[in-house]
Amino acid sequence: MMGKSSNWLWRRIWCGLRLALTGLRDLFFVRECAVCGEELESEHGGVRQTVESEGQDTGRLLQEDVPATDGGHLCDSCMADIPLTYFWNYSGNAAIDRLAGRCHVYNAAALFFYRHDSDYCELVRRFKYGGDTALGLWAARMLGEYMAVGGLYSGVQAVVPVPLHWRKRFRRGFNQAEIVARGIAERLPAGYGSVAADDCRGGDWASGGCAFGGRVPRGLPVVTNLLFRRRYTRTQTRRQAGQRVRNVAGAFGIRSREIERLRVAGVRHVLLVDDVVTTGATIAECVRLLEPCFTVSVATLGFVE
Ligand SMILES: [Zn+2]
Repeated sequence: MMGKSSNWLWRRIWCGLRLALTGLRDLFFVRECAVCGEELESEHGGVRQTVESEGQDTGRLLQEDVPATDGGHLCDSCMADIPLTYFWNYSGNAAIDRLAGRCHVYNAAALFFYRHDSDYCELVRRFKYGGDTALGLWAARMLGEYMAVGGLYSGVQAVVPVPLHWRKRFRRGFNQAEIVARGIAERLPAGYGSVAADDCRGGDWASGGCAFGGRVPRGLPVVTNLLFRRRYTRTQTRRQAGQRVRNVAGAFGIRSREIERLRVAGVRHVLLVDDVVTTGATIAECVRLLEPCFTVSVATLGFVE
């Protein structure tokens, strides 16, 4: 027992130290590319240079719509080569197909193809296991921008992250799905069915909700108390499809009081958010709880092919 708790203590200390070191490194502007590790020239180097030299889609979006948030996290070439899914442009795509038959989603989007042999997995690993929440937020904002431009998600009124068990959250220090939810929520248009902030008291507002760049008001509420974990589940990472389904079966619950509050506030369409979709077992489990009461769309950073 003693051994276990001192292990745990050391892990917490190490985690804290690592976060402090990351902060110090950023303070002195020695930033490295989250994918290849190459040193970035300046705080905004990766993003701005891509825009100027190549005029890429990604670059244009970031320059116009993400001014002075937290700079780029990728070098020029990694930024230009992100294996984007473009799912946000299509109402029929592989993410929707993956969930078909188990639950009904209105739309589904993912930022990039998560290939286990690709360095782009670092985007999620650094964020989720390395505690680089700024990186996760940055990638999520990028996805939110794409989803907003495409227009297929303009009916979404609230964003719901897949919940993490409190023990896991305590150990990690944050819920990665909630960070992704915040980044996306900030960038989605708030115009449609606009839900008043007061009506979403239990939820938490993303920093939007105001005119952004003089155009459509952005920012949707992030609702963290609608879904909850009923029980602690072991990591899904090394499990086969069938095991994943059994592992999460009945693992989640939904609070009827919160359903009622959101319905009264006029929320009819929610966006369920997670970090990565693999077999879709976790997401399907959550969608099944939400779909009797809401239209459900889904968004993740990574999509495992
Ligand atoms: Zn790079």
